[in-house]
Amino acid sequence: MKEKILISACLLGVNCKYNGQNNYKEDLLNKLKDKELIPFCPEIVGGLQTPREPSEIINDKVMNKKGIDVTENYQRGAKEALALCQRLNIKKALLKAKSPSCGSGKIYDGTFTSTLISGDGITAKLLKENGIIVLNENDIIKKGD
Ligand code: SF4
Repeated sequence: MKEKILISACLLGVNCKYNGQNNYKEDLLNKLKDKELIPFCPEIVGGLQTPREPSEIINDKVMNKKGIDVTENYQRGAKEALALCQRLNIKKALLKAKSPSCGSGKIYDGTFTSTLISGDGITAKLLKENGIIVLNENDIIKKGD
């Protein structure tokens, strides 16, 4: 049976990024041919539209560039991602680097100046807290996992 992996939908070419585009990477998908990929976008499932204002995490809140607090949408998306993993017995997630939802290890610092700090996006954090391995596309492309 193929290993199931939850994957950020934008990495598969779905235009769900804040700017209406995607993060498709052919070399990434070539390395995942033997996996069963389950696409998911926590921001869309959390109730946000595409396109939308970019958002960053600051002081445990998610704020969009216009200063609107969108934390609840991000938390809802994270909870739904976890529920899906639990329902389908998914143990690993491959999530887009640096995103305030999907980023793992490094995220933007909340100043909208492209400054990275240590931290996890809201969905990545919740999945990790519940024992799910979270990787980003750079882990796969570099290490050939
Ligand atoms: Fe991609 Fe995640 Fe952002 Fe959705 S929330 S567009 S899946 S990085």
